[in-house]
Amino acid sequence: MIQALPSAAAALERNCEQRSESGYLDKVQGGPGHRIVLFRGGRALMDANGLAYLRPADAGGHLPAGAVTVYLGRTLAGGNPQLPEGTDLVLKVLADDAGDLSWVPGGTFFSGYRDVGDSLGAGDAAVFIEAQAVANWHTSHRFCPRCGAATTPEQSGWMRRCTADGSEHFPRTDPAAIVAIVGADDRILLASNFAWEGNRYSTVAGFIEAGESAEQGAVREIAEEVGVHLHTTHYVGSQAWPFPRSLMIGFVAHTDDAVAVPDGTEVREARWFSRGELQAAVLSGDAVISRRLSIARALIEHWFGGPILEPGDALDHAPAGGRA
Ligand SMILES: [Zn+2]
Repeated sequence: MIQALPSAAAALERNCEQRSESGYLDKVQGGPGHRIVLFRGGRALMDANGLAYLRPADAGGHLPAGAVTVYLGRTLAGGNPQLPEGTDLVLKVLADDAGDLSWVPGGTFFSGYRDVGDSLGAGDAAVFIEAQAVANWHTSHRFCPRCGAATTPEQSGWMRRCTADGSEHFPRTDPAAIVAIVGADDRILLASNFAWEGNRYSTVAGFIEAGESAEQGAVREIAEEVGVHLHTTHYVGSQAWPFPRSLMIGFVAHTDDAVAVPDGTEVREARWFSRGELQAAVLSGDAVISRRLSIARALIEHWFGGPILEPGDALDHAPAGGRA
């Protein structure tokens, strides 16, 4: 299994059974011990330590009554150095026009995961990702897909019910395959997209279509984007990527094709690297690869056999073990 993904081990006990009981959220919010994670416009409230975990007293009276409220879970031992074990976390999703926010504590600021994800500890990253995923769903599923009537949250924010026909709706996830392609000579094939800077290379990814297995989706996407046929795929791990609602399903896969053909619309270049070539290219700046704690990086390092050194690491030969 690949290691060092942000959410490799659960940081929270989600208490799925209890949270679906009516009144559970009120019970949690009635106590002084819970902490509040605040989201607004897809951004989380942060402070100098990472995610800001507001005390009820900090927020009391200021939160709009209509803010979507979600029970995120209870911290596990070692799950988050910012919080004691057993702390219940409640997400409040503020509307974009939430109005005056001058009450939020000094030194806090709203930030998106793409801007701060690299600097977060694993516990904060897991909470941020869960909050982002469920907040996105609430924002985009306010109306019933069957009849168009309004839906309202139930089950501590993990279900929405149609106010007209009573139908139940749950958070959605779109599966995507992400693949480290390995050739017969054991080199890796990385792609550079038109949307990226010219020297950035990564694994190839694409959405799995309706009616497809993850493996079929991986084989099809790789053929479409870089023109090689995969003859074997090995699942190695996954990562939630709620932008807006993906689950990245990671494979290391093999091909006998030596010539890659970029699709010319999404993929600008597909390039083979031996292990030595990739390490040298990263150190020289000839290639920039995905950041640490991403599944793309984990897949590349799974093939590589260990951490790939970055230019900053090489000066003191520090191990590239990621962030604490
Ligand atoms: Zn309905």
